[in-house]
Amino acid sequence: MKNRINPEVCLVCMPFSSIVRPSIALGLLQGHLDKANISCKTKYANIQFAENIGLKYYTMIGSLAPSDFFLADWMFNKFIFSSEVSDTEDYITRIYESFIIQAYPTMNYNECKNLLLGLKEKSSRFIEDLAIQIIEEKYRIIGSTSSFHQHLASISLFKKIKELDQSITTILGGANCEGKMGLTTHKSYPWVDYVVSGEADEFFTSLISNILNGLEYKNLENSSAVLTPEIRLNNYQEIEAENMFVVSKNLDDLPYSNFDDYFIDLKKSNLSEIVKPALLLESSRGCWWGQKHKCTFCGLNHPKAHYRKKSPDRLLAELDFLEKKYSVSMFEMTDNILSMEYFKEVIPRLNNKEKSRYFFYETKSNLNESHIREMKDAGITWVQPGIESLNTKILKLMNKGVMAWQNIKTLKLARSYGIRLSWNFLWGFPKEDDKWYEEVSEWLPLIEHLQPPSSFLQIRIHRHSTYFNNKEDYNLNLKYLPAFKYVFGLDEVSLIDASYTFKPEGWADPVWDFNDNQYKERPSTSKVGKLIIDWQRSFMKFQLPVLSISEKNEKIEVLDTRKCSYEIQYKIQDLEKDVYISCERMDFKKNIYSEFINKGIDLLEIDLIVETLKKKKLILEIDDRLIALGLRGEIPHLPSRNDFPGGGINQSVIELKNNKTIWEIEETKNEYLSKITSTKLCPTRAHK
Ligand code: SF4
Repeated sequence: MKNRINPEVCLVCMPFSSIVRPSIALGLLQGHLDKANISCKTKYANIQFAENIGLKYYTMIGSLAPSDFFLADWMFNKFIFSSEVSDTEDYITRIYESFIIQAYPTMNYNECKNLLLGLKEKSSRFIEDLAIQIIEEKYRIIGSTSSFHQHLASISLFKKIKELDQSITTILGGANCEGKMGLTTHKSYPWVDYVVSGEADEFFTSLISNILNGLEYKNLENSSAVLTPEIRLNNYQEIEAENMFVVSKNLDDLPYSNFDDYFIDLKKSNLSEIVKPALLLESSRGCWWGQKHKCTFCGLNHPKAHYRKKSPDRLLAELDFLEKKYSVSMFEMTDNILSMEYFKEVIPRLNNKEKSRYFFYETKSNLNESHIREMKDAGITWVQPGIESLNTKILKLMNKGVMAWQNIKTLKLARSYGIRLSWNFLWGFPKEDDKWYEEVSEWLPLIEHLQPPSSFLQIRIHRHSTYFNNKEDYNLNLKYLPAFKYVFGLDEVSLIDASYTFKPEGWADPVWDFNDNQYKERPSTSKVGKLIIDWQRSFMKFQLPVLSISEKNEKIEVLDTRKCSYEIQYKIQDLEKDVYISCERMDFKKNIYSEFINKGIDLLEIDLIVETLKKKKLILEIDDRLIALGLRGEIPHLPSRNDFPGGGINQSVIELKNNKTIWEIEETKNEYLSKITSTKLCPTRAHK
């Protein structure tokens, strides 16, 4: 560590970012400043705040409340926005009726209102105290990163700091500051001196040096990625919001993240004994798939943010360095999508024979058995494969580049190798057909033994997505989300410009509008939604449903505990067994038929066998292929939620009020999600 005495720069990690892992954005920026020998402290205000209001409420607001309410931002808007407009009965009633009453059934409206207003008061006091603390520590520059619901916490803090000391410079960056959203932030909140849009790696040090030396900062050529006080004075002349973005050319040039202050702040906190920390690490930025065929719903990655990845040696050296320095072997990889080249270059080298390491990665879903086996051997125990749907026509509509049979294969392989998946089933795509959901509902119960989706989610329209960019073609008149106006205190135009998520006019918002018309009008999605709830419930039981097969003495023994099972235990043999084994290749039906016809078997006989296997629900015909559904051999346990490689709360230590553990709160969340999925079909957790 360099220059830890009297640092002049303070980077602040504001609520409600997770307390179980450090911020990679701030860790990297601190790494850049270390290299330039500029003293810096990263302050984990999120840990202080979680301690202040209690982990139960931190989790409730930051993770459990539907994101469409912006409740985390609302907590911090007292210094920005009039409470008469913000703290209305309308806003609080909707939160109560859509969320609180389902998650905490014994709480009445007045208790809910008092709780929320009380927490908001505490949040405001926290901001005032934090501002005083920062002033007393005599920093000259305060920087913060804003993604998800961290925006108003940072903006409020900056306002209070400026009220106490005008000479301190404030800088805001992060995903919420990209392009037009950043421009709106800079225009709307004049106490934010600088807004950075995009990846600051290549200029952050010179920006900080210039400010410390009292020099004006000039933007890089062809980019106005930094909005400065001078630009504000010049009334934003020649600023093109869409051009406001820079990317780092070579990820190998980045410093290693400096997470020292996270561990220092965590150690000082009384939450340290219950937090199981993990580290964030990035091997790539951008999306190699989206660069060619962006998924239509995806708002990730500014058009300038092309795909880049670290070289294998560099990535592995960084991994070893961080693991050794912080004695942590759990890594949440921040990549949007795993590089397929890493299967040759990196994954075999992740396998550490002396020590267990655990990784979370996002991948594409076109994985084969050797990919899954190699990932498991390397400690990649948790994967988000971007499954999104189980109907090929819907997958095609969203440009996903995989077919339903491949998604089923991924589900099957992951279950066979004990890899836990995070995935959502999305619905509500413009131009989709009800028939496609009807088709899925006919066979969905057959895969009850594979891992269900976390939720059945109506898509949202995100900035930079194909739907956003081509709204006229899809006939979408986009509006900001209804709760936005209660939270951000902006005029109508700025509300649109500051939004990342939109609701097309005419689309019901099932959470905000308490509107289940969508559900009634669409029996097809309703059917799939109900089947998914059943599937999720089966998967919450102690004994998970099983469809296992084992070959013994020329026969296949079947154990089938699915609700749709033909029998719980039975055997198949002879031609039926041979056809079943051929279906394990998941090949085209015509190829499987040819194989047996070439052996002299009659077509009618094969047809009969295939129909028998279908009746026994052992195979599924989809995308013109025959898919065997049974899992072979011993079926491994799936990692529990407590084993998430991105960190967690130590279940054995924590006891919250009402004798509820944090994981019981998680169960409450699942119950809650099930309830609103069944009645309104749309929990609003963010999808990928
Ligand atoms: S959803 Fe995932 S795979 Fe699709 S474009 Fe976005 S990041 Fe890439």
